[in-house]
Amino acid sequence: MIYYKTNEEIELMRESNLLVSKTLAYIGGLLKVGETGKTVDKKAESFIRDHGGIPAFKGYRGFPASLCMSLNDAVVHGIPSEKAFSESDLVSIDCGVVLNGFYGDAAFTFAFQNVSDDSKKLLRVTREALVKGVEAAIVGNRIGDISFAIQSFCERVHGYGIVRELVGHGVGRALHEDPEVPNFGVKGKGPLLKEGIVIAIEPMVNMGSKSVKQLNDGWTILTRDGKPSAHFEHSVAVKKNGPDVLSDHSLIDLEVKNNPEIVDISINF
Ligand code: MG
Ligand code: MG
Repeated sequence: MIYYKTNEEIELMRESNLLVSKTLAYIGGLLKVGETGKTVDKKAESFIRDHGGIPAFKGYRGFPASLCMSLNDAVVHGIPSEKAFSESDLVSIDCGVVLNGFYGDAAFTFAFQNVSDDSKKLLRVTREALVKGVEAAIVGNRIGDISFAIQSFCERVHGYGIVRELVGHGVGRALHEDPEVPNFGVKGKGPLLKEGIVIAIEPMVNMGSKSVKQLNDGWTILTRDGKPSAHFEHSVAVKKNGPDVLSDHSLIDLEVKNNPEIVDISINF
């Protein structure tokens, strides 16, 4: 069942997503070679709690951390570890909070300075795919229009692999609501987008094949071919006058521009 949100509820969700975006921006300033994922996770948890939020992922089905942190060939759902970051790491960070009873959910993939040009391109294309998905989130369209926009850009135009096993989702008073928002699909198919629907759009894009496997930690999803993967996510409200992006990646770009260890992958449209 799809829960349509009132404008008041959407404004509360903007607050939740602003806290997520501020947390990701804070992380964008913290990431340094030699720092560990576990330390960053602890600082992010304090940041969320200091701002009145609750980390949404901690304890979710037993997940042990506040952030999902997925490096290099890890796609999503990685557990922050005690291993130090290296100058050639790709670090995807997914952050969720609960604030005022509503969930915020967004993700960003960071690149340390020595990642390959191919990896930087993967990040920019995945980010652009997210924008294309958001642009299709308009009243009267269907979920399949979003899915198609993302898939065709990543697979047909760029030859990347779109992960099939994991999808975006409705978001609100629960972290995962209906409808599912796949990153692959057919134009004009799937649930109709009506005013007040709020969805997390989150392309997970592999440089190589679409195939994935799960690590024996019970969480981490890895590419089967060991090639890198990228993940960007926005929470988006569908409104009369167009998509309203509730999370804000520009806050993250600002912090990254001031962090010499992280590549600026901001894109202009
Ligand atoms: Mg997320
Ligand atoms: Mg999500």
